[in-house]
Amino acid sequence: MTETRTVSTTDFAQQFLDHLVRDLGVSLAESSANDRYLALAHTVRDHLIARWIDDQAAQHETPSKTVHYLSAEYLLGRQLDNGLLAADLAETASGALDSLGVDLDELRSQEVEPGLGNGGLGRLAACFVDSLATIGVPSIGYGIRYEYGIFRQTFIEGQQVEQPDSWLTLGSPWDFPRPELAQTISFGGATEHYDDEGVRRSRWIPAWNVRAVPHDFLVPGYRNERVNTLRLWSAVATQAFDLRIFNSGDYEEAVRAQTYAENISKVLYPEDSTPQGKELRLQQQYFFVAASVHDVIDRLLADGRPLSDLPHLAIFQLNDTHPVIAVPELIRVLTDEHAMEWDAAWAIARRCFAYTCHTLLPEALEVWPVDLLGRLLPRHLEIIYRINEEFLDAVREQFGDDELRIRNMSIIAEHPVRSVRMAYLATVAGSRVNGVAELHSQLLRDKVLHDFSELFPEKFTNVTNGVTPRRFLRLANPGLSGLITEAIGDGWVADLERLRELEPYADDASFRERFAAVKAANKRTLDAVLRERDGVHVGDGHLIDVMVKRLHEYKRQMLKLLHVVTTYEGVISGRVAVSDVVPRTALFGAKAAPGYAMAKRIIHLINAVGSVVNTDPRLEGRLKVVFPANYNVTLAERVIPAADLSEQISLAGKEASGTGNMKFALNGALTIGTDDGANVEIRELVGDDHFFLFGMAEPEVAALESAGYRPGDFYQADAGLRRAIDLIASGAFSGGDRSVFEPVVSNLLYEDRFMVLADYASYIAAQERVDAAYADQDRWNRSAILNVARTGYFSSDRSIRDYLDRIWHAEPLA
Ligand SMILES: *Cc1c(COP(=O)(O)O)cnc(C)c1O
Repeated sequence: MTETRTVSTTDFAQQFLDHLVRDLGVSLAESSANDRYLALAHTVRDHLIARWIDDQAAQHETPSKTVHYLSAEYLLGRQLDNGLLAADLAETASGALDSLGVDLDELRSQEVEPGLGNGGLGRLAACFVDSLATIGVPSIGYGIRYEYGIFRQTFIEGQQVEQPDSWLTLGSPWDFPRPELAQTISFGGATEHYDDEGVRRSRWIPAWNVRAVPHDFLVPGYRNERVNTLRLWSAVATQAFDLRIFNSGDYEEAVRAQTYAENISKVLYPEDSTPQGKELRLQQQYFFVAASVHDVIDRLLADGRPLSDLPHLAIFQLNDTHPVIAVPELIRVLTDEHAMEWDAAWAIARRCFAYTCHTLLPEALEVWPVDLLGRLLPRHLEIIYRINEEFLDAVREQFGDDELRIRNMSIIAEHPVRSVRMAYLATVAGSRVNGVAELHSQLLRDKVLHDFSELFPEKFTNVTNGVTPRRFLRLANPGLSGLITEAIGDGWVADLERLRELEPYADDASFRERFAAVKAANKRTLDAVLRERDGVHVGDGHLIDVMVKRLHEYKRQMLKLLHVVTTYEGVISGRVAVSDVVPRTALFGAKAAPGYAMAKRIIHLINAVGSVVNTDPRLEGRLKVVFPANYNVTLAERVIPAADLSEQISLAGKEASGTGNMKFALNGALTIGTDDGANVEIRELVGDDHFFLFGMAEPEVAALESAGYRPGDFYQADAGLRRAIDLIASGAFSGGDRSVFEPVVSNLLYEDRFMVLADYASYIAAQERVDAAYADQDRWNRSAILNVARTGYFSSDRSIRDYLDRIWHAEPLA
């Protein structure tokens, strides 16, 4: 390790001015805020580059097993503060800018976050590359540099409208294009089989290709002098391809072809949990994993190592099924391009890949129609068929000719159209298969992949998700961070289990008081942010009750909304005295996939309820609903530190893990939650007294499902529920028009796939316990502090160490 580099405030100021002049071509006096932000970003970057170069040299000198994290999404969030923190430059930068009369906060707010992901899965990948760098694991993250990330959400008359996210237009100071490391990626065409001196071989004759140009983002470790690489691929039309058409004289066609090729990295599919099976999406998947696999093989060969060394030097972690097409790609390269025997290539693949499953919803399991896959990647389809044949032979050997079992386990599904089941391919090929929380991994073994866990019990393992404490505690919550550091030192930032040392402080009245003061200050900050950003404000002295995550029926934003409507209905009907209502602000943040009609109706309904409740004088000061648009990482960093109550209310057995739940607990919010995903582990750690549990557990859900769930029965049986639903149905939130939210109401009454009505009574009772607990502020604060002290387990550093122990069998560099 090199010694820590330091820079004086004066030198930093000079470097900043130099960048302003040299990179942006403006003087300080003439510069825009964006110029100043870019100059600052370049200055910070300079301090990371030397470390980055050293790190790459070190990894080159002593090649060791390298982790290649393959993910179609990275929801990175802003980079500036993260770079300043990692390189310990925050004070220097702020002093330097002060001396120049430049406002650091103004520059911070210039940065458009790279939103190259949809939600939890993409944010997990971003946390993992942070932890890999902080632990010092030789690793590289691979993905796609979408020109447009997740859409920017706005509301027009309460309804979601999507705007393109053009995050690159004002400059992208954090990435380095590496055109000299571009790869050529092919598509389409046909395969040929030929005789090579008595050996049967295959080759792919593709129809078209595209260049994959890497852009390297620096991933600095926290104060450890390490900087890793996040390599995101961008699609560029190939010259050869252009020339052929140009030469044919068809200029328009040439331009069209170029646009076609470059479309591949144009836009992130804004879907969460519901893949649509679109051709462009398969192109994206193959594009980035093929480029990544070739990148790794090129480096191995350049170092003079044989391909048989791959399992010793490379592991590919598949973040969900999106990168699974890397499996047949690696086999194709080994067999067709490097003349390796099938058995040897397959043996290598089986040791190089590991698969993380992220779901339990059947509709979220990716399948690709054989027609489409064969048209785009004909050789890969042949390879998948061969993998499947050999796999099904092995199944027969173990279980006999059990045709039902064989049909159920086949990588190829026959109905409704012949398709490749990507999760099965990943499970068969992967050396390990992990779920993302204990309960989820158990359900994978018992249900979703049950037949596979019988066949390969040793493959299945768990790695509970985590979040990076740097971004989600140290940076997002400077007040609480300062308080923690004062009490126990700053070792917790890179060793989060040390938060345990905070436990005794929960019983220290003066610490509780200071904790409460931090929370109150965070609420004021949030209020200021929301006034400026959305023109809304949170109630003074309110319990801040937050549900922020993608909008999905299984997450059950509807359940929380029914609680709001229940409170409202109680007051306006006169059954509840307004003075008995514990003042609350219900804060929602959620994007809906643009094609997910029910999710969009629910957003509309939340906003509609908000505009009625917020303007009804009968509720004045007691109940507010706020729904800031465009929930993203930057907003999460403001909202979470201000929350009192964290809503984690998915139907048990549906949320694989959740990571939002971890962020809230670490910031001292109490959870109201079901026994689902990582909530189970959070509750075990913080203790039942400091967690508001409600609802059916997974076995009860399964039992109700098989008994035949009738939501109408719950509606009939519960007067409070009936009044809330009737109020929505009456048009009270839609200017008397009953038709607007009729689809939402009907869905609840006649379908309710995620059993909102079945859990309603238990949820309302839990919210009553919340109200009662909140009335005793001292007790509440004690619980909140214990939540912080007991959830250090949920650091993504711990997740990465679990991956190292259970899956990768790799070691951090000394
Ligand atoms: C953490 C995070 C998520 C995931 O939230 P869940 O509650 O686990 O679904 C989604 N979006 C953003 C912006 C996040 O920061």
